[in-house]
Amino acid sequence: MIRHISADFIVPIHGEPVKNGVVSFNEQGEIVDLSDKSSARVDGSVESLKGIIVPGFVNSHCHLELSHMLGKIPGGEGLIPFISKIIGRRHADESLVADAMQEADKRMLENGIVAVGDISNNILSREVKLNSALYYHTFVEFMGFDPQKAAAIYRKALELLEDFSPLPASLAPHAPYSVSKELLKLFQKNKAGKYGITSIHNQESDNENEFYRYKTGRFVDFYKQMGIAIDFFKPQARNSIQSVVPLFSPGQRVLLVHNTYTSLKDVYFANRFNRDIHWCFCPKANLYIEGRLPKIDMFQSHDFNITVGTDSLASNDKLCILEELKTIKAHFPLLPLVKTIRWATINGAKFLGIDNRYGSIEVGKFPGLNLITNTDGLELTPASEVRKIV
Ligand SMILES: [Zn+2]
Repeated sequence: MIRHISADFIVPIHGEPVKNGVVSFNEQGEIVDLSDKSSARVDGSVESLKGIIVPGFVNSHCHLELSHMLGKIPGGEGLIPFISKIIGRRHADESLVADAMQEADKRMLENGIVAVGDISNNILSREVKLNSALYYHTFVEFMGFDPQKAAAIYRKALELLEDFSPLPASLAPHAPYSVSKELLKLFQKNKAGKYGITSIHNQESDNENEFYRYKTGRFVDFYKQMGIAIDFFKPQARNSIQSVVPLFSPGQRVLLVHNTYTSLKDVYFANRFNRDIHWCFCPKANLYIEGRLPKIDMFQSHDFNITVGTDSLASNDKLCILEELKTIKAHFPLLPLVKTIRWATINGAKFLGIDNRYGSIEVGKFPGLNLITNTDGLELTPASEVRKIV
């Protein structure tokens, strides 16, 4: 049976928003038609809805395995205390972790998310992902700042990657301050790293830049506390991103996540290298941890590949892309919704390599459809909500 649904606007992504448009789809969610109402091409009954219809959301950065940490770590203390507490408190009973992941998966589905780029340090999320209605690409995360341990850490990461089979998965270094140059070089040489998509947390805290520039600041104390010797590390006289981007292979599609302390100079630097860079923003997590947002307006004026993520429930109260877009709207009111919707749909789908199915409302695709309610024309309001249609 074909359903026909109309709304005040349909944002198909490719092409202009369609005022009073009608979208038609079959039981499998495949789009079979998109038209404006006036052309009256639809014979059956049309369900008329108030609001904006957009494609299903792509959450390009999440940590499903941290879902049990909802409300466990206080916000506003900055990144380093946050990481220390994650390390100290993440361990929990496996059934509790599994239940929290199941619940988070369900909520993401309800919140209109259709695909997720998910960071994993262990195998616990495999079961939920295998049985989920959502598409998951797992980024098997590896970390280790001690160059001597690089080979052993990399071997373990490859084993975990294998364990996630047959789910889509690839390797991802954690962050510039937690991965040695040696480890990144192994990653660059290996086939598993060379041709896959990958992701790295980038400049989430200014301490990361300070450490890379001068080898001073809170990261020095952090390594001491963790018992990690850092004698080998030489100050680089430049921000972390400028040291790390050249270590990725030109064949890799790289998602830089957070970018809270990324400057225009960093962006120009990153773009000078022949690397396929995508930028992911997780605004609610940034406000939660550091109390600050990236210079989103600076990125958008350059029309970069921007995506949106929720990060984990350790630093967010929900896994909802619309809430991220509302946060962006509240801080950058001049950014048009149609633009940020692209970040949250087609750009994430392109990054994950699934834009043949997801990311835009086009005949033959199965993008999922969301209704955004309580809108003001083509803009969000603080009361806007998302309802999954299909
Ligand atoms: Zn993260």
